[in-house]
Amino acid sequence: MTGARDFLDSRKLELGPAADQATHPWRRAEADGIAWLVLDCMGGPVNTVTEEVLSGLDAALRDLAEAPPRGVVIRSAKPGGFAAGADIDSFDRISGEGAVDLLERGHAALDRLEALPCPTVAVIHGAALGAGFEIALACDHRIAIEGATFAFPEVNLGLHPGLGGTFRLTGLIDPVQAMTLMLTGKTAHDEKAKKLGIVDLITPERHVRAAVEAVIAGKVDPPARGLKARAFALEKARSLAAGRMRAEAEKKAPPAHFPAPHALIDLWEAHGDDRDAMQRAEIASFAKLLDSETSRNLRRAFFLRQDLKQDGRGDDGIAHVHVIGAGEMGAGIAGWAAIRGKRVSLGDVSPEALARAIRQVARICRDSHLDAIETRDALDRLMPDPKGYGYARADLVIEAVPEDRDLKARIHREAAARMKPGAILATNTSSLPLAELARALPEPARFAGLHFFNPVAKMQLVEVIGHDATDPEVMDRLAGFCGAIDRLPATLRDSPGFLVNRALVPYLVEAMVLMDEGVPKEVIDRAALDFGMPMGPVVLADQVGLDICLDVAESLKSALEKPIPEISPRLREKVKAGETGKKAGRGFYDWSGGTPHPETAQTGPEDLQDRLILPMLDACMECLREGVARDADQVDGAMIFATGFAPFRGGPMHYARTRGVDEIRRRLQELADRHGDRFRPDPGWDE
Ligand code: NAD
Repeated sequence: MTGARDFLDSRKLELGPAADQATHPWRRAEADGIAWLVLDCMGGPVNTVTEEVLSGLDAALRDLAEAPPRGVVIRSAKPGGFAAGADIDSFDRISGEGAVDLLERGHAALDRLEALPCPTVAVIHGAALGAGFEIALACDHRIAIEGATFAFPEVNLGLHPGLGGTFRLTGLIDPVQAMTLMLTGKTAHDEKAKKLGIVDLITPERHVRAAVEAVIAGKVDPPARGLKARAFALEKARSLAAGRMRAEAEKKAPPAHFPAPHALIDLWEAHGDDRDAMQRAEIASFAKLLDSETSRNLRRAFFLRQDLKQDGRGDDGIAHVHVIGAGEMGAGIAGWAAIRGKRVSLGDVSPEALARAIRQVARICRDSHLDAIETRDALDRLMPDPKGYGYARADLVIEAVPEDRDLKARIHREAAARMKPGAILATNTSSLPLAELARALPEPARFAGLHFFNPVAKMQLVEVIGHDATDPEVMDRLAGFCGAIDRLPATLRDSPGFLVNRALVPYLVEAMVLMDEGVPKEVIDRAALDFGMPMGPVVLADQVGLDICLDVAESLKSALEKPIPEISPRLREKVKAGETGKKAGRGFYDWSGGTPHPETAQTGPEDLQDRLILPMLDACMECLREGVARDADQVDGAMIFATGFAPFRGGPMHYARTRGVDEIRRRLQELADRHGDRFRPDPGWDE
């Protein structure tokens, strides 16, 4: 995709000057009585919708309104896409009255676009997100270049569309479909967008001009809205549909934690038949959400993710990866790396494991929505390699054999003997000390931990762990490798359990203690869900595998100074009986009917939630104090993207700051006095 500039060049159209691009990011060209407004924001590969973009558009539209051309086309000059939405950086600066004022000015610009007396056409290539999508919606017509995508991701930031999207999209297409797009943040690809009626037509880049001519000449029928859309002009019909949406939203996003979806449903239910009222209400609601704790924290999570991503920007110099061990993790890592373009060889002692792994990778391709060609290419890049020929070619060897110290040490020695000079050896161990494993190797500097989470294709975080002798260049390349395969690296210093398992184990083990005390598992899980964890500790333990939980807890118990409670005999019994959780169909819960959803009217002890959550915070503090993690933001990012730690709370350390560090320390001490030394506050809280 070349973007508008090449198109205009090829037509010998001169774009307006780029000299004051910062304040006037729109550039103009004229051809055959059609005015082209081309968005070209300064200083980056994508357009973001800033105040200047909207005021520049407003100024250009005022000019055009004085002597309207035959038509106006809105395009992006960026090869990468149309526009990536609003400038999230600016959200923190605007609040309260200021926000309303700014929003009103933005709305006025888009109203002017909508009211222009000549036909207006948005030509979209790449992504039109959020406010970018809203500019396109204010045009009379939309032409999608093949591959274009449309989405309103605002809900992920604790917001809903704020520049007219709520009434323009529900006014354009089936309102229930429109609401679904806004409530889920899901992407509509070109064909879907055409089917929904978002775009008038889809065309390859080379036919844009003909498409624009046809649309402006009125030769393309606009998408029909249909009967269903008209039915929702009736308040009763809207109320019914809104009730269903609310019930659905409640399951995924309780209003106390995530107010935005509920505000959006209220908005549509109350004003879905009155564009102007909905516009006023959208502005007021957006400004209010912008100021909410939830949105602030979700925006924080967005920036934490950018920070982690930044760590993975470097060049990895890794073309070929050899993965050893084709089990649950090895297959996931190999498959994901192949999907993201790496050449991968995969070794295992068991031919059945290799065959299973290939089937698992085909499934991952399907679940990741790869088409037939992408799937074929990914599988072509993945070579089953029972003889280990890949060792000699690989730039990176990742070991993912079972968690057995001697076995791993043997495999590492074999690998080191067969690897080419300069290649990196990484282990996916969850709990073995790296320094000890490194000691047995001829080149400890080229050895590190690369700890993926299960399932690899879904869990975004990877812990990249260095021991004392790991070469910093190796750490950089491993972080770069994570970035190259679209995962988020958290570079850490070696320590028992690293960061994420170190924090999760006390949470899981405390849940077992509570069960031993007679608190029903549903009550325990409910308390964690109410806090905002994506799943309760008992469901999580079942999902991870009770055998793995037991392994990790035992190895941490012996490695840590801080006491971890006695491991529950129930856990040992379950493992012994083969009831290891989800993979066995039964653990603490019965998984035969899918993921269990703990529901209960019972309540637990007053300190139940703190007993689960505060030990997690305390472990994070310990990791900070010991320099395992770089800083509190890295801890928060890692915990959000590896465990789903209540993102609307901004991460564990941010939550501690919000609740008050003194209060956390006091409460931990109180729990320690009541339940034992495992709650003793880490000295880090004193600093
Ligand atoms: P797994 O038992 O599913 O797979 C291990 C594979 O290694 C098996 O296919 C086995 O045949 C193979 N293997 C055994 N000996 C071998 C040898 N000598 N040479 C080659 N292959 C051999 O185990 P897993 O769950 O994938 O775990 C692998 C590693 O990843 C462990 O260190 C574990 O702690 C870690 N890990 C696991 C998870 C998880 O949730 N499963 C998460 C993070 C990290």
